[in-house]
Amino acid sequence: MRPSTKEEKRVTALSGSLPNLSAKQESWLKWKVGVPKGYVNSRHAWCGECGFPLPKETKSLVGRLTANSRLICPFCGKELELTQSQGSRQCEKFYFTFVTVCQEYQVFRHFLVSKISCKGMNCHISHTEVVQNWINPSGKETVIARSTTFGYYCDQWILHSELSLKHPIRHYGFCLYDINPNYIYPFRKYIPTLKRNGFFGDFLDLSPSTLTKGILSNSDYEFLLKTRQLPLLRHACQRGLERIPHKESVKICVRNRYTVKDADLWLDMMDALLSLGKDTRSPFYVCPSDLKSAHDRVFALKERADSKRKMEEAMETARKWEKRYRTEKGRFFHLTMSDGNVFIRPLLSVSEFVEEGDRMHHCVFANGYYKREDSLILTARNMKGDRLETVEINLKELAVIQSRGVCNSSSPFHDEIVGLVNDNMHRIREICHTARISA
Ligand SMILES: [Zn+2]
Repeated sequence: MRPSTKEEKRVTALSGSLPNLSAKQESWLKWKVGVPKGYVNSRHAWCGECGFPLPKETKSLVGRLTANSRLICPFCGKELELTQSQGSRQCEKFYFTFVTVCQEYQVFRHFLVSKISCKGMNCHISHTEVVQNWINPSGKETVIARSTTFGYYCDQWILHSELSLKHPIRHYGFCLYDINPNYIYPFRKYIPTLKRNGFFGDFLDLSPSTLTKGILSNSDYEFLLKTRQLPLLRHACQRGLERIPHKESVKICVRNRYTVKDADLWLDMMDALLSLGKDTRSPFYVCPSDLKSAHDRVFALKERADSKRKMEEAMETARKWEKRYRTEKGRFFHLTMSDGNVFIRPLLSVSEFVEEGDRMHHCVFANGYYKREDSLILTARNMKGDRLETVEINLKELAVIQSRGVCNSSSPFHDEIVGLVNDNMHRIREICHTARISA
């Protein structure tokens, strides 16, 4: 992309003036690149640092290596962490970031560092600068980077391409150029605006450019940083939120010197409190000393309220269907069956469908069985009146279609219930027959 705006031209020119890594920075980078490793498979076992083969018995450890498997290399004397590997060549990649300032810009320089270990050779470490984020004091970013092989969502860098101006595109909320590095160089420089907005040197395990852009351009982020509501800040950054949810409640937290330690849990709880119509400005609700228990309590309340509301909606629907149900199925209402253990009768109203579905945790109401002309639904109970199963009879075929207990399981009385209904099927046939004659 060719620089077209004044800012793009300026950044492109400034980028060319950035110094190479100093000897000190390079040696830090080499020192940091992973712990010395020994690679083991059934054919090879070699030291990842000097490439010399490890003692033969090391190969017998294949399949038994643990996180604590260590060995001192007899050749270079380094303590190796043993890792199972394929083949005789290993390549590890890391991102290193240098935080610096150039003119008015906050600059993040990201280097891709490769450590290649081959059997029979000293390990080779190389580094290439792949991305620079240039962020001005208003939080506007200009990106200078190398090209990639698969477009803007895959970090397959073409290392011999030029560092040039790139257009940062977000793909599923992720931007290739917002790199969250493995290591950040400890000696850093920050622009004054960033410090003024409350930044104190912790990137909260986020990509430095994401956090910096947020703090410089969004007053809500600045507020969260200054009031040290860091988990909420992290949450907002990760999801790219424009505004903080429940900001008034966050202010109550700040006033009460309460820090939200788990943002997801707290925000979940606030949503639930709001839907329950509770006062989300009361410190009693907003600043619980034990967030987890408070969250669980509020959710139990919400669950109760939700199921009550659902039940009320269901009853409302039921009322609309009662008349038609009575007309269609009323002729069966006097039908009862019992063998002294089990008592079976039809459901006498649509409201009874609602109750049956609710208690038995199945879909006899939800699936609208009361509307089905060819279905007769019976409830089977024990002699104390406790529900055992719900039975569906197809009135055309005069057969039991299904008989289901709690959560659609079968009760211990299943066969007895089906048998009892079948023994009484002639009575149902008679009712149907009489109805047809009178019609
Ligand atoms: Zn070695």
